[in-house]
Amino acid sequence: MAPRPLIAGNWKMNLDREGACTLARALAPSVGAGASFDMVVCPPAPYLIPVGEVLEGSPVCLGAQDCHTADAGAHTGDVSPAMLADVGCRYVIVGHSERRADHREDDAMVRAKAEAARSHGLIPIVCVGETEAEREAGRALQVVGEQIAGSVPDGLDGTNLVVAYEPVWAIGTGRTPTVDDVAAVHAHIRDVLAAKTPDAMGVRILYGGSVKPANAVELLAVANVDGALVGGASLKAGDFLAIARSAPVRH
Ligand code: PEP
Repeated sequence: MAPRPLIAGNWKMNLDREGACTLARALAPSVGAGASFDMVVCPPAPYLIPVGEVLEGSPVCLGAQDCHTADAGAHTGDVSPAMLADVGCRYVIVGHSERRADHREDDAMVRAKAEAARSHGLIPIVCVGETEAEREAGRALQVVGEQIAGSVPDGLDGTNLVVAYEPVWAIGTGRTPTVDDVAAVHAHIRDVLAAKTPDAMGVRILYGGSVKPANAVELLAVANVDGALVGGASLKAGDFLAIARSAPVRH
């Protein structure tokens, strides 16, 4: 049985406090307890607490966009997974391509972050994805497979691990891979995960990269796509909810 879809919103470094709370206020009552998908929103770190207060009691979960590997200490500007758990986060994105590029995070660092997140009860959303040059060179499966091998901790399962496939060239560009290409990468990720966990089938593998209401039905219906990681379109409640409602119903 395929896992229940997860629709994750990555708000990146956008919105102000009022805008973040207004967005959360629009989402919270619109996702009923009977929804056929799970939803998480990942606001900028300064807005985790006010957004968490708005989401209190709703099925919409709170997530963060990154975490440090340490619990505490001399790491100016960083946020620990213990702090994220303390303010009510359930998920944390690790290894987003913008972190890999802007902060030179490699697979070993991403894996350490995912392990640290787990040790505080957070569910890491581990991001992988090839660049355009890697895809054009026919290396997409190899690159993504290596990232999974290096970035995903061993021994996790569908209850405590999410993977997101985000082709770097599709993020924020309006371009998406073909459904056949998405299917090929997701199937490969599932295979590589099998070496890491006996529950590879239970791990949710999200697709991310220019998901919007107009393409969500098609992308979310692809085999081994268990939800979406959404950037730009997650900043508009109507679009994000439309994407979530495009997910196939799986009981
Ligand atoms: C992202 O940054 O995770 C993302 C998928 O962005 P967008 O949906 O805007 O392409």
